[in-house]
Amino acid sequence: MRYSEMFLPTGREVPSDAEVISHQLMIRAGMIRKLTSGIYSYLPMGYRVIRKLEQIIREEMNKAGAQEVHLPMVQPAELWQESGRWVHYGKELLRLRDRHDHEYCLGPTHEEVITSMVRNDIKTYRQLPRNLYQIQTKFRDEVRPRFGVMRCREFGMKDAYSFDVDEAGAEKSYEKMFTAYNNIFRRCGLKFRPVEADSGSIGGKYSHEFMVMAASGEDAMVFCEKCSYAANLEKAEVECPEKKIIYEDDWLPLEEIHTPNVRTIEEVRAFLNVYPQDIVKTLIFIVDGKPYAVLIRVDQEVNEIKVKNYLGATELELASDEIIMKTTGAPRGFAGPVNINIPVLIDYSVIDMINFVTGANKEDYHFKNVNIGRDFKIEAFADFRVITDQDKCPRCGGDIKIARGIEVGHVFKLGTKYSKAMKAVYLDKDGQEKIMIMGCYGIGIGRTVAAGIEQNHDENGIVWPMALAPYHVIITPVNVNEKDVMDTAENLYNSMLTKGIEVIFDDRDERAGVKFKDADLIGIPLRIIVGQKNLAQGNVELKIRKTGENSLYPLQDVVQQVQQMISQEVDSPAGGSLL
Ligand code: ATP
Ligand code: MG
Repeated sequence: MRYSEMFLPTGREVPSDAEVISHQLMIRAGMIRKLTSGIYSYLPMGYRVIRKLEQIIREEMNKAGAQEVHLPMVQPAELWQESGRWVHYGKELLRLRDRHDHEYCLGPTHEEVITSMVRNDIKTYRQLPRNLYQIQTKFRDEVRPRFGVMRCREFGMKDAYSFDVDEAGAEKSYEKMFTAYNNIFRRCGLKFRPVEADSGSIGGKYSHEFMVMAASGEDAMVFCEKCSYAANLEKAEVECPEKKIIYEDDWLPLEEIHTPNVRTIEEVRAFLNVYPQDIVKTLIFIVDGKPYAVLIRVDQEVNEIKVKNYLGATELELASDEIIMKTTGAPRGFAGPVNINIPVLIDYSVIDMINFVTGANKEDYHFKNVNIGRDFKIEAFADFRVITDQDKCPRCGGDIKIARGIEVGHVFKLGTKYSKAMKAVYLDKDGQEKIMIMGCYGIGIGRTVAAGIEQNHDENGIVWPMALAPYHVIITPVNVNEKDVMDTAENLYNSMLTKGIEVIFDDRDERAGVKFKDADLIGIPLRIIVGQKNLAQGNVELKIRKTGENSLYPLQDVVQQVQQMISQEVDSPAGGSLL
């Protein structure tokens, strides 16, 4: 494409509402424009990158035996009522009515639609397994759209759904998608890692998120430096410490102490003259409408998801001041396990503690020398806390690291959640009716592109990995007024086009400096600079965007050289790897 004819509005100004670098660069490099909150248009340069990614995804999905479909975005409420999500999905679901007053929603995901399609047309085990996917627009009315297309409201997603006759089949389908996802992100040239993720009440070991490493990522992940264990922060397990023997002789008498004006942990510590590790905090949660107390050492944090999963609950929230008053008899800040009338859950961090400090369920009072087994009853001892980098790997005991990442994909074993509710059944070999076992698999298209930029940029702009680059080469004639320079550039451009190389010819009547700046900003991997001085020797300059390396090539060799570099990079991307 000739630059002079392109719709490629680049800019030097950093947009004021763009917090992360990918958002800034996508605007500055003329890839996207905001229409309204969380809703973006892709300009030609942005859309080419989207198409590149989609192509990689299609190839890998097809290779894995999935078939492409295209499902409607507008979905009738009845289907969502059948699955139960019309009520449960909450405000992210954009609901609408037609002229006949029928209710619909804009699809935030497509389990209902695909399940209704499959149940009508798949009747026997002979038609299974099947894996169907689409690349399509989703709408989620996110509370806080941000970071450009990374967390927006209207976005492209590849979503796939597998249907199997049994668990073993479903596991195979899952494995296939897991492999396909690894291939996709590797081919994109990304540094990523699949991490174990929480699969909520559906349960099982079958959920993985694919995380692209990035300091700006919204998610935290934990990974072991020795073995392959990786999990997102909310899922990461904390090992139960080996329990030391506790001698009851060491238990000191329980003491209730008046602690006026002592509120913060630091004040409690100083007032009672104890170590911070001697204090246990008690948090009151409302779990599916019932209050629970969770005890944890004061320097640790409760992982609410673990509590929720332990209790098999669907909803959990911290109790309000009013409920704390009602259940403990004291205002917030004085809860404790002694003389409390609700179930007490204890985190492993408290397992070895003796003679510790807790609230006394009485305003301005604390207990000293509290001991498990003497002073209160416990409902459960388990892992209820957020892992820290001081903890060890739950699999091999090695050191762990906590890093930030962007969730670009998710593979999830659904089991029979939708097939049961929506009656997606088949007849097995013996003519028995059975429920299909499902899996679902998503990749955020725009988010993956943005994550690619987070990982591949420098102070001058985007540095596209070859596989995602909107164009592979940009030809920059240094001076448009010199005829032989322009003729050579034009000839190079034409011969690259005939070879199928994706090339921009920067034929604009601009200073070389301006052209170089734009080429850097939009991130084209290879630049050919045609200048009078080198041309006199029969050479042109080839500059690699990523390394800044510059070399001279004879004019007649450069096209072949470029071709080689492109295919090498596309086939085995330098950056694409597991972390
Ligand atoms: P998140 O926790 O980030 O909200 P999610 O768990 O809701 O993600 P899924 O329902 O698993 O996401 O969707 C599959 C993929 O779609 C995600 O891995 C992500 O890449 C992408 N995605 C989800 N929400 C958004 C969004 N608001 N904007 C852009 N991409 C999104
Ligand atoms: Mg979400």
